[in-house]
Amino acid sequence: MTGRDKPKLQDVPPYLAGIRHSGGGPVVSDLSLNESRLGPSELAVGAYTEATSSLWRYPDGSHSLLKEAIAGRFNLDHNCIVCGAGADELITLLTRLFAAPGDEVVFPEFSFIMFSLNALRVGALPVAARTEGFAPSVDSLLACITERTRAVFLASPNNPTGTYLARDEVRYLLSKIRADLPFILDGAYAEYIDRPDYSDGFDLIDEFPNLIVLRSFSKIFGLASLRIGWCHASRSVVEGLERLRGPYNVSGPAQAAALAALRDEAHTKMVRDHNRVWHDRMASAFIRMGLRFVPSGGNFIMTIFPDSKTAECAYHHLRARGVLTRQLHDYTLPHCLRITIGTDADNELLLQILEEFFSGERHLGPTRPPRTNLS
Ligand SMILES: *Cc1c(COP(=O)(O)O)cnc(C)c1O
Repeated sequence: MTGRDKPKLQDVPPYLAGIRHSGGGPVVSDLSLNESRLGPSELAVGAYTEATSSLWRYPDGSHSLLKEAIAGRFNLDHNCIVCGAGADELITLLTRLFAAPGDEVVFPEFSFIMFSLNALRVGALPVAARTEGFAPSVDSLLACITERTRAVFLASPNNPTGTYLARDEVRYLLSKIRADLPFILDGAYAEYIDRPDYSDGFDLIDEFPNLIVLRSFSKIFGLASLRIGWCHASRSVVEGLERLRGPYNVSGPAQAAALAALRDEAHTKMVRDHNRVWHDRMASAFIRMGLRFVPSGGNFIMTIFPDSKTAECAYHHLRARGVLTRQLHDYTLPHCLRITIGTDADNELLLQILEEFFSGERHLGPTRPPRTNLS
């Protein structure tokens, strides 16, 4: 492709949305999209309900109250914050801002798929760096960076693998790349992880002005339906994003709910604690079953089956009993299933069905999985 070519949309695979609406009987537990099964804070629901009295008004296009609340909570400059319709919109805008046809966008392999889809959308080349046991490798990321690289994306913790890059490694990576190369640290799951060696990036922004931190209200805050996220970046990047975004890109009810959600730290802690307890319980259960998995920093666990056929069987076995998980063919991981950590009842049901699957009782149930449009 020459520098002038417009990207061909036929080259951009569509995002696999709407799997849960694709039929196959009732879903009892939807563990396919990393939603917060505990839901949002009651304060957020209250603020959302209150916002219904002004649905006729345009929202605050400068998101000023929310930006101030975010700045206060994380000790940031509100002039360095941009809000978007989900972190997804910001990934789209950042890619448009930095990359054009012929450019390269670097990220670890098995990264959140929107990094590569957005690179393709602008005609840039997605470059996936090798991982080591699913963990991002600083050396292979550095080896992938060329003079054509326009942005580096890293989700930490990453979806679908759950791995994260430790603070020392993030700092080392940043110290080795061009000071003007945008490095986007996607912390959609940052609130779930509380390991001392984890960095959400805010402790590195003074040292590295090219570091951009992305956050979402869809995950621990449980507001996925409202489409709201934000990023922290240098003033010049913020200015670029402000020019690219739509004037009213975040709805009024979304801003109101996010503001309230941010304040309900007790709810956030409750969800984080629930997630940690169940992560460890599910991990122990997987070990008992002999099911491999990647320990996760998020609200999901990627399980690794011996082969794609077994993963396919397990998926359909779970699906037939009302538990929906996420197949990972589009991540080139057909032998893996990503399982969101749900409510007590969801997780107990999931483990019970998986145990049954591995103990061979599957032969008593529906043995032939239906063909799916994903395989
Ligand atoms: C879910 C997710 C997002 C997108 O979140 P939205 O705010 O709902 O757009 C971004 N990055 C990662 C890694 C995610 O898993």
